[in-house]
Amino acid sequence: MNYVVLDLEWNQATNGETAQTAMLPFRLDGEIIQIGAVRLKADFSPGEQFCMLIKPRFYPQLHGMIAKLTGIRQRDLEAGTPFPQAIQQFQDWCGENCTFFTWGNDDLRMLRQNLMIHGLESVWTENWLNLQSVFNAQTDTGGGQKSLKAAMEYFNIPQELAAHNALNDAIGTALLCQRLNLAKSVVAQYAGKSHQAFGEPPLQSWEVGLRPKKSSLFFYEKDVLETHCPVCGERLVFDRWERQNGRRFVTLARCQNHGAPLEYAGVMRLSNGKRAPWQAVVLLYRAGEEEQALYKSLKGKNRLREKKREKILAETGAKGGS
Ligand SMILES: [Zn+2]
Repeated sequence: MNYVVLDLEWNQATNGETAQTAMLPFRLDGEIIQIGAVRLKADFSPGEQFCMLIKPRFYPQLHGMIAKLTGIRQRDLEAGTPFPQAIQQFQDWCGENCTFFTWGNDDLRMLRQNLMIHGLESVWTENWLNLQSVFNAQTDTGGGQKSLKAAMEYFNIPQELAAHNALNDAIGTALLCQRLNLAKSVVAQYAGKSHQAFGEPPLQSWEVGLRPKKSSLFFYEKDVLETHCPVCGERLVFDRWERQNGRRFVTLARCQNHGAPLEYAGVMRLSNGKRAPWQAVVLLYRAGEEEQALYKSLKGKNRLREKKREKILAETGAKGGS
């Protein structure tokens, strides 16, 4: 078994690229421009390193904010390796039976999206461990998503290398691995959650500012409904959104091009927005049996609840009339 700590940097669409973005088959959250990785030795100490710059194809113009954050320059990217070749070299370097360790789930989501948009296989990324979950379970820091910087500070790991460089962040994450208990049993416990319903990471996630005041209208917002199949780009057809609890809603979505085998599941999490009255995070997953079963049971429960409510209303209404 190979354990590889992975960190990615990605570019975003600049304003001028919106037309180009629209031509993409689906919402590409970011285009990978740098791969950084550190192989862990048997005792989980840092070993060989891998670093590569990638020439972007869909968002060729380096976003000013990303340039500032990463220190990468436009001319560095021009000299970069195209994604398909870079990923082939990276896969060869990783070897067979590789489990990826990342800080958070963004890197894996981004990797899988980028593989998809290039029509490349992503099965080899299935064994994956989000170190944030291990960190939260093994420290008294109270859960939630912490930055790599905060986690390194917690363990007093010196941060001499510039952050937001894929290799530097992979090195930092690898140093963190030494402070965590990553016995084989721990890795087995946390790795590969894709078998669970809504296993992380989602295929896509995006934020929407919601204008309507009534929550029942949220689901008809353009930015929610105009979601495309990550495989062929066809617009997805959504089922009714069902409340799972409080501010979390679940739906199923279907690509008409593919029919039954390509079903998706959408999750919407609402919060009070900063700019709009409401803010939603929409997440898109592959819908397996578990997601479909969950949706079916929610639908059943919610219909039952509605019937009960109608009955009560009808009864009290009748009383009020007499
Ligand atoms: Zn499709």
